[in-house]
Amino acid sequence: MIRLTLKPGRDESVRRRHPWLFSGAVAEARGDGSDGVAQVVDAGGETLALGSYSSDSQIVARLWSFGGGPIDSSLFRSRFAQARTLRERLVRPATTGYRLVNSEGDRCPGVLLDRYAGAAVLELTTGGTENWEAMLVEAAQEVFTPDRILVRRSGADRDRGQLPLPGGARGVSPRLMSAPAATEGRASRSERPAEGRGEGRDSAELSLVPFSENGLSFFADVIQGQKTGFFLDQRDNRARLRALAADQRVLNLFSYSGAFSVAALAGGAARAVDVDSSERALDLARRQRQANSFAASEVDFVRADVFEDLRRRVEAREEWDIIVCDPPAFAKKRSDVERAARGYKDINRLAMKLVALDGLLLTCSCSGLVDASLFQKIVFSAGLEAGHSFSLIARQGAGEDHPVSLDCPEGEYLKGLWLKRVDS
Ligand code: SAH
Repeated sequence: MIRLTLKPGRDESVRRRHPWLFSGAVAEARGDGSDGVAQVVDAGGETLALGSYSSDSQIVARLWSFGGGPIDSSLFRSRFAQARTLRERLVRPATTGYRLVNSEGDRCPGVLLDRYAGAAVLELTTGGTENWEAMLVEAAQEVFTPDRILVRRSGADRDRGQLPLPGGARGVSPRLMSAPAATEGRASRSERPAEGRGEGRDSAELSLVPFSENGLSFFADVIQGQKTGFFLDQRDNRARLRALAADQRVLNLFSYSGAFSVAALAGGAARAVDVDSSERALDLARRQRQANSFAASEVDFVRADVFEDLRRRVEAREEWDIIVCDPPAFAKKRSDVERAARGYKDINRLAMKLVALDGLLLTCSCSGLVDASLFQKIVFSAGLEAGHSFSLIARQGAGEDHPVSLDCPEGEYLKGLWLKRVDS
């Protein structure tokens, strides 16, 4: 345990239960913190909270408990059980891929847990929670009873939408763990070597876990894929797209595994084109279409830089009925925000030029540092530059399996604006 004493007058955010303690608020640190536990005390010595300690992070502690209780297996079990209660109320049988535990939103800062049918992927996004891996795996096993649990450590390459850790970059080092037999109390580990790049299809195959979403078939690329292997946070936007897609020509920018296109085709889209710079992502996109019995014609998978691809399409005066634009987080740290804003404006200006009259644009930002009002302003000015008028018809972020703590509004990272092109 490490005892972090706050500077005088720097205890307010902890008292308001904000779960992030920044290193600048700490006057003194005592102890080694090797068990990952931080005790936060005010300048007068009163204990305010316990949390996970990340020595190499600007957010030196993520606070789990403000009520004086210890951080141990029983806390993990009880937090996971509360998270499970919410999912039990929400999840429909046609959906077997969803988030079980959403970090701060489920009062488990630094812990993400996603279910893909029988498999669970535990992502530890901070140094502190990495120390608790064994206990967290055991609690997850007990509460959610998956057939197997895979652990990913994203370290500095943190969950999109949150602040990055300065320094100490840790790569993803997934470990596959076998489930315990139902009668055994402990998870037994069967580690396998982390996979390198450039491997053949066989090893790629191993990491693809099938699951369903609203009755459609998808694969999560649980070892090498983005996030925990799939963008579960876009489920509600996919559902909306599906409802709007009949007979439409859909352009899916930053497509990753093409899940938006699958949803559009399920809704009767005339055509859906995926654009992404990653061949592996496009390969997965082809398979996802096939898994849903849609044709996977090569012209519908475009490996390109989206900025360049859009410029070409604008030059060719293309028109699309629906465009989905869901780029990666352009702002990963505060100093990126200005550059990110320019990136969002460019990409939206170009996309807006391609939207047919009466057509739709779903434009998203998953940069937590670009808040909803800034994003809307950026999109507004992109529209002015594009020379087209748009009306906002809906705002749609992540679904209910991604709860956001009111104590930590930073957890609301995904913004989606549904825009309709109207007469200028
Ligand atoms: N919309 C996706 C998630 C997008 S993740 C979904 O719902 O599943 C971001 C994707 O953008 C990644 O697949 C990444 O390979 C791709 N990407 C990042 N920068 C890019 C660029 N400049 N041009 C094309 N693709 C890019």
